[in-house]
Amino acid sequence: NISDPGQEVVYRELEPFVATIRQQHDDIIKSAQMRQEFTANVSHELKTPLTAISGYAELIEHGMADAENSKRFAGEIHKNSVRLLSLINDIIQLSQLDGGKNHSEYADIDLYKLAAECVDMLKMNARKQNVTMKLCGKPCTVYADRQLMEELLYNLCDNAIRYNNRGGSVTVTVDEKDGHVFLSIRDTGIGIPTEHQDRVFERFYRVDKSRSKATGGTGLGLAIVKHIVAQHGASISLESQAGKGTEIRVEFSDALKQQMEERAENA
Ligand code: ADP
Repeated sequence: NISDPGQEVVYRELEPFVATIRQQHDDIIKSAQMRQEFTANVSHELKTPLTAISGYAELIEHGMADAENSKRFAGEIHKNSVRLLSLINDIIQLSQLDGGKNHSEYADIDLYKLAAECVDMLKMNARKQNVTMKLCGKPCTVYADRQLMEELLYNLCDNAIRYNNRGGSVTVTVDEKDGHVFLSIRDTGIGIPTEHQDRVFERFYRVDKSRSKATGGTGLGLAIVKHIVAQHGASISLESQAGKGTEIRVEFSDALKQQMEERAENA
């Protein structure tokens, strides 16, 4: 309650600034909370395989493993080391993307060709699960970092295989519509229930933790994909029906190339 009309004018003029500062304050608090949550999650995720490795190694060290058991224990140590390594790789990748510290090299690349290489690479994995993979569309050029595009394709195709059913299929499409290149990865797998769809791009968010872990998931794949998409000025959308399947679509725009060209001209 301001009784002085002069003061009221000043307050009214200050109001937008106060609102901006309040918003910035809220954003800082939120990002600090998210960072804290991420650190807690990372510690937990790293601790689980490390505890297993140390436990099995200790049993062997104390001579508590006969010939048969030592083979099993060594297998567990190997499995958990692989898990630890993929977690660390994903955490490093995410932190580089997050801090803008990755050394991206942008160029015109044929996304269709890259998708064909990815499908070839993952065909064996798919066959093991009796899942068929197919590539549709045509050669399309995008302005992007090759390594990050490979990562994006790999993560999305790998998910489409891992969350599929035996006898299911994965269709990868690279095409152009209204002058925009798009990539679609469609599977006939288990799908994502509506209430989880908004959250699967969050770090360590999994619909079914045990399935993710059993199939070698780290819970960071889609968070990495989201960062790569943002860095390329592209957009991502997800359509899914539980029990029917999922389609993830990435749409590229010319914005990034234009931005880079403008920056080069001004330099
Ligand atoms: P993860 O390593 O657990 O696969 P991601 O970040 O790649 O982590 O995905 C997050 C979660 O989203 C997964 O744990 C899974 O529950 C769900 N998910 C991702 N892709 C698919 C898909 N194609 N079909 C069904 N569920 C999916």
